[in-house]
Amino acid sequence: MTEKDRYGETLRNREKAEEDRYAAEQDRLRLEKLRQQAQAAQATSGLCPQCGGGLNASKTFEISMKTCGKCRGVWLSVDDLERLTARAGEGEIVRFVRSLIG
Ligand SMILES: [Zn+2]
Repeated sequence: MTEKDRYGETLRNREKAEEDRYAAEQDRLRLEKLRQQAQAAQATSGLCPQCGGGLNASKTFEISMKTCGKCRGVWLSVDDLERLTARAGEGEIVRFVRSLIG
């Protein structure tokens, strides 16, 4: 291998190392962005008022609710609870829940 070939190979290796470093930095930035998005989602869902566990927001049949992964509590607004009972009809449980709402 000539001196010129060795120099060219060294340059190529250096360029490759630079590309690898750039790719690793891009991966790190993408991971950081995903981590921030996950934290933001967790922050908007909040913590369970009963046990402090993380709440998962969901929407089913136009009714928004948050469920706790730790104590399995379910949290929803009075408006959503009224919409839910309106859909459920006039059963005993629905009358009980409506009596709680007032
Ligand atoms: Zn909980």
